[in-house]
Amino acid sequence: MKILVQKFGGTSVATLESRLKAAEHIEDALAKDYRVVVVVSAMGRRGEPYATDSLLSILDGLSAVNARDLDILMSCGEAISSVVFAAMLRSRGHQATVMSGGQAGIVTNDQHGNARILEIRPKRILEALREGQIVVVMGFQGATSDGDVTTLGRGGSDTTATALGVALNADYVDIFTDVEGIMTADPRIVTDARMIHRVTYTEICNLAYQGAKVIHPRAVEIAMQKNIPIRVRSTHSKDEGTLVTNAWSVLESSVLQDRYVTGVTQASNITQIQVEGPEVAKANIFEWMAARGISVDFISVSLDRVAYTVADADAARAVETLKEHGFEPSVLPECAKVSVVGTYTGMPGIMARIVDALSREGIGILQSADSHNTIWCLVRRSQMEAAVRALHAKFELGESVVQV
Ligand code: ADP
Ligand code: MG
Repeated sequence: MKILVQKFGGTSVATLESRLKAAEHIEDALAKDYRVVVVVSAMGRRGEPYATDSLLSILDGLSAVNARDLDILMSCGEAISSVVFAAMLRSRGHQATVMSGGQAGIVTNDQHGNARILEIRPKRILEALREGQIVVVMGFQGATSDGDVTTLGRGGSDTTATALGVALNADYVDIFTDVEGIMTADPRIVTDARMIHRVTYTEICNLAYQGAKVIHPRAVEIAMQKNIPIRVRSTHSKDEGTLVTNAWSVLESSVLQDRYVTGVTQASNITQIQVEGPEVAKANIFEWMAARGISVDFISVSLDRVAYTVADADAARAVETLKEHGFEPSVLPECAKVSVVGTYTGMPGIMARIVDALSREGIGILQSADSHNTIWCLVRRSQMEAAVRALHAKFELGESVVQV
C-alpha cells in the first residue's frame, strides 16, 4: 500500500475555495494510487473565528482553567476543520473518516500544552485506508495512554504529519501552505526571496530553528529519523515545492549544489540583558535563570560583564531574579535576531560580509554569535526587516545564480 500524508495548514482549510484546492491535491494523489491520510490545522489564522487563539479568547481571561481543560478547548479548532473537510470530501464522492489524534493512535506524555509523542499505533488508520477511506486526522493533538486529550505545542500539526508519515512509512509527507515552498527568506519581508527546490533536513532544521516558521523544526527532525521525504508546497499550485531529504539524495540530483548560505531568517520579541561589575564573575546567573525556567540565548561572558537575551515574555522575571541577587541589570527590550544559515564550515569572510552589509545600512550589531553553520546577529526590532533584506542582498540569494 503506497501512502501519502498531506497536511493542510490554517489558510489552506480556511475557506471553501482553498478546501476545494486541497481536495484537488488529494485527488491527484489518489489518481497515482496513493492511499491518503490528511492532517488538518484549525481554520484560519490569528483573529479568525475558529482559529486556536479565538477559541482561547472565549475564556475571557478566566484563570480558573487547568492545563488539561485548556487542551480540550485548544483541540477544538482541528475538530471543527476535520469535520468540515471530511464533509467536503464526501460531497465529491469520496469515502472519508475523521479521527482525533487519540483515535489516530498518537500517544503522548501528559505535558499538557506541549506534549511529546511517545508512540504511534497506526492500526486504526491502516484499517480505514485498506477499506478505501481517506483518513482526516485532527492535527496538533494526541492523547495520553489514559485517553486525555493533549496538544503538541507550536507547529503541532506539522509534527502530527511527519510523525504519521514515519509510523505509516509514507512515500512523502506533503506540507501544504500559502507559499510556493521554502524560500531563501520570508517572502513577506524579502520580495525577491527565491524558492529552494531541494534541501537537506539539516539545512531546513537550522533555518526553522532560527525562526523560519514555514515548517516546524521538530517535524523535520521526526521525518529525518526514518528518511521520509517532505515536500513543502502551495495549496494553490500544482508545483511540487521544496523537497526536503537527506544529503545523499540531494547530491544524487543532477546538479551538484554549491551554495554555502541557505537563507536568512529572523525572530523577534527578544530582550537583551546586561550585568556589569566585579561580582559578575562569581555569580552563577545562568543557574538562577534555569531555576526559573527561563531559557537564554546570545550569551557572552567576560570577567566583569555578562550579556544575554531572553524572550520578551520572560524579561520581567529575569530582571526580578537578578535584582533579588543584588544586581542592577541594564535592559534593552524590542530586539530581534537575524540569522544567516548555511553550510559554510570553514568559509572565511562570512562575518566580514555580514558586518559590511549591516553597517552600510546603519544597523548596529548589539551582539553576535556563530556556529559552524549559522551566524546570528542581535539587532533592534525596528531594524529587523532592513537587516534581513541587507543580508539577503549581500549573499546574492535573490539573484539567479545556479542553484538546485
Ligand atoms: P500554515 O498555516 O500553512 O502552517 P505558516 O504561517 O505556519 O502556515 O507558514 C507559512 C508562512 O511561513 C508563510 O506565509 C511565510 O510568510 C512564512 N515564512 C517564513 N520564513 C519562510 C521561508 N524561508 N520560506 C517560506 N515561507 C516562510
Ligand atoms: Mg505552520
